[in-house]
Amino acid sequence: MQHRIIVLGAGYAGAIAAGRLARRLRREDVAITVVNAEPDFVERVRMHQLAAGQDLKPRPLNEMFAGTGVELRLAKVDGVDVDRKIVAATDDNGAGELAYDTLVYALGSGWNSRGVPGAAEHAYQIASRPGALRLRERLARLDAGQAVVVVGGGLTGLEAATELAEARPDLDVALAAHGGLGDWLSPKGRQHLRKVFGQLGITVHEQAAVAGVEADRVVTDDGRAIAAAVTVWATGFAVHPIAKATTLEVTGTGRIVVDATMRSVSHPDVYAIGDAAFAMGRGGKPLRMSCASGTPMAWQAADAIAARLTGGKLPNAPLRYFNQCISLGRKEGLIQYVTADDRAVPAVLTGRLAAAYKELVCKGAAWGVANPMLGLPARRRRVTRQPAPAARQPAPAVRGPESRSVRR
Ligand SMILES: Cc1cc2nc3c(=O)[nH]c(=O)nc-3n(C[C@H](O)[C@H](O)[C@H](O)COP(=O)(O)OP(=O)(O)OC[C@H]3O[C@@H](n4cnc5c(N)ncnc54)[C@H](O)[C@@H]3O)c2cc1C
Repeated sequence: MQHRIIVLGAGYAGAIAAGRLARRLRREDVAITVVNAEPDFVERVRMHQLAAGQDLKPRPLNEMFAGTGVELRLAKVDGVDVDRKIVAATDDNGAGELAYDTLVYALGSGWNSRGVPGAAEHAYQIASRPGALRLRERLARLDAGQAVVVVGGGLTGLEAATELAEARPDLDVALAAHGGLGDWLSPKGRQHLRKVFGQLGITVHEQAAVAGVEADRVVTDDGRAIAAAVTVWATGFAVHPIAKATTLEVTGTGRIVVDATMRSVSHPDVYAIGDAAFAMGRGGKPLRMSCASGTPMAWQAADAIAARLTGGKLPNAPLRYFNQCISLGRKEGLIQYVTADDRAVPAVLTGRLAAAYKELVCKGAAWGVANPMLGLPARRRRVTRQPAPAARQPAPAVRGPESRSVRR
């Protein structure tokens, strides 16, 4: 009998995990099914570019998985019963159920209104393709001089503000940051950020915690009002509520708690990767929601599942960070080098070289989805055992000679 592996979600994490599993396990031994709501792979890291009017290369999933043995099911996942090992999903033919032996949960995340009044009604988001397209359409109708406020001074907010200001120099673009501009970066990184924001004419509102969004302005918690014909919400991501509705052990925000092999700490048949998972990185710090974390998480999960099914060696490469790659429009960038646990070190790369590097990282991320073995030949191994149903198995130590690179 074939071992049934179901992968939920074909974003960076899910698509890589499915493709890698297919290249690690013999086709006659496993049935690998990917369930995804959309027919193509969405490069979420480029949603600010899409919103700014750029067109992205279509990447149909059926072409990506062609010849790999992975079956693609276009359906919306409605829920998971992790005790009965059943996924409930709806496709064009209606609602149905899929049974699994091993589940890889990779449904990603969406925007996070953080419950701020008016955000859901008035703000635009770029966490998803529909959101980015809606903003794109709205921006196209703005007249010169109208105000756009990006709320959120994190990586996505910085990228969105600079991309929009570069694409539409006629607009009055501002950024509202909770703290100081790029305050987690090195002094050189912060300096470069200020320079580029100045060159692009972006107004920066620091220590500006937005507490309300209205149709034509945002209001901060200390009473400042910032005019905004359009408000772009970029205050981090929230996971879908599906995992929280299961008996899986999740965090307060609904991310699935996993061990170092990306296996659920409560349900050994379930693995979680990407934004949906809560995994520890170096220094006991949780990995941040990013494609940079999701990619090595997917390698780790696929290799661990394959090892457990074939009696091979469990991966023990630690997940670590090297840099944060920030696009600042198409012509400028900032590569902030970091410690293994993601703290800024003095070194940075800036300017056109940094922009080119960041573009290479984005292209590399998409290439890695289609080439999940990183160009290494597939070595399909025979499934010899079913995974042991022991909950809370000790995870391999987070150490080892080789590290899994994490680049934003
Ligand atoms: C504008 C922007 C810029 C970013 N820039 C960077 C960057 O430079 N570097 C970086 O590392 N990260 C960046 N990120 C974050 C990064 O995009 C995410 O962390 C990453 O996409 C997470 O990967 P994932 O596979 O977990 O989820 P996703 O990429 O979100 O994939 C989830 C998949 O699940 C599918 N899905 C969701 N719900 C369902 C359902 N109910 N049924 C069926 N299918 C479903 C979706 O269609 C999607 O295919 C950026 C994000 C944004 C929005």
